[in-house]
Amino acid sequence: MEYIAITTSTASWELSEEEFSSDEYQRRLDEYIQKQRELASEYGMNHHWTDSQFIRKSKYGIVKCSKCNDWTMDRVANPCREDNVEAIKDGAFFEGSILCCECLPEGHRWSS
Ligand SMILES: [Zn+2]
Repeated sequence: MEYIAITTSTASWELSEEEFSSDEYQRRLDEYIQKQRELASEYGMNHHWTDSQFIRKSKYGIVKCSKCNDWTMDRVANPCREDNVEAIKDGAFFEGSILCCECLPEGHRWSS
């Protein structure tokens, strides 16, 4: 029996309005994709595609988790998750701090 291993990863960076309006993000993205291709090739893998999304943080109240510093959104304030934000971790306020699903205590509604 033979298998195909498919590995998916995500990467993000924060852009200012000026960077978003310029070609700077496209230059950085092109460089990153090229390095992904080279790295995949180095390990005998094929790089198939890269998808990019641009999410307006303020629309969803996306902030950094107070504990791990990863991007998260308060699911109490955003009960309807849209598909374009799937790379953003679920989160909620706990004891006054926003925590992502991995940092919320076990048993919390939005913990993973
Ligand atoms: Zn966290």
